[in-house]
Amino acid sequence: MSKKDRSVFPPVPPALPVTVIDNHTHVGTDRLGQEQKVTEGGENKYPLLIDGQVEGMRQAGIAHAITVGCEVPDLQDVIDLAGEREEFSAAIAIHPNEAAMHAGVREIAPDGLDPNEREHHRLYDLDGAINLVAELASRNPVVAIGETGLDYFRTGDEGKDAQQASFRAHIALAKELNLPLQIHDRDAHGDTVRILLEEGAPERTVFHCFSGDRELARVLSRNGWYASFAGTVTFPKNEELREGLDEMPKELILVETDAPYLTPHPHRGRPNAPYLANLTVRYMAEIKGVALDTFCERLLTNTNTVYFP
Ligand SMILES: [Zn+2]
Repeated sequence: MSKKDRSVFPPVPPALPVTVIDNHTHVGTDRLGQEQKVTEGGENKYPLLIDGQVEGMRQAGIAHAITVGCEVPDLQDVIDLAGEREEFSAAIAIHPNEAAMHAGVREIAPDGLDPNEREHHRLYDLDGAINLVAELASRNPVVAIGETGLDYFRTGDEGKDAQQASFRAHIALAKELNLPLQIHDRDAHGDTVRILLEEGAPERTVFHCFSGDRELARVLSRNGWYASFAGTVTFPKNEELREGLDEMPKELILVETDAPYLTPHPHRGRPNAPYLANLTVRYMAEIKGVALDTFCERLLTNTNTVYFP
């Protein structure tokens, strides 16, 4: 793959026979750095970018996307986007890695990255940041609390207490507002499940970017929790993840992009966008051995059950 390819969006795949919903993406947030590079034209890239996103979705058969703001500077942005464009709904929370930063943890991460302290980490302590989420979620039409949870890959031992406290607070908030919960669980399956069971999981609980194997899939199905699959399930190496997909009952499967990250195979390394959920859907239908149209209908029903009951 040439360098140039890495900065260009993959082509839009043929439309799905039945439209589906990307239930977890990051359109309209700070994370657009990567995407802005591929946007042609002048200074004000935001409207052009959103129009391009929506056009891709329309062509690919992605009817709607839930866009997630999980850092303080992004919370209002996703709420605004959802207010302006009918193709988007908003979910908000404090990301587990952000929770550690708000709590003042500044350790070098297990992945070797420096903590990237920004102004909002100093302006809000952890309680303050969660209170902001609670306040915004109670006076705006957000459709989920997320993403929250645990990340033991990016945050080391010092950040675990903050992440767990934040996760518990978000679980309580989702239940209080009767909203679904989107969970980020990276290298933390055991503690994630334990805390959910200790607190009592919200009625609609989604493991976003499901990263488990057959065993975790069994825990999810036993509890009626949803597994949302991202482009990672299409990566050739991820055999365990495909076993997880194989284990999940069709009634508990969702699709997402987590864009701008995790672009599905064969476009890994290029920027991701909600329209590319199309490729993950096609791939999953094959793995599950279900006709594409039947599988799309199932996904749409599942997504509506969780977010738009
Ligand atoms: Zn995400």
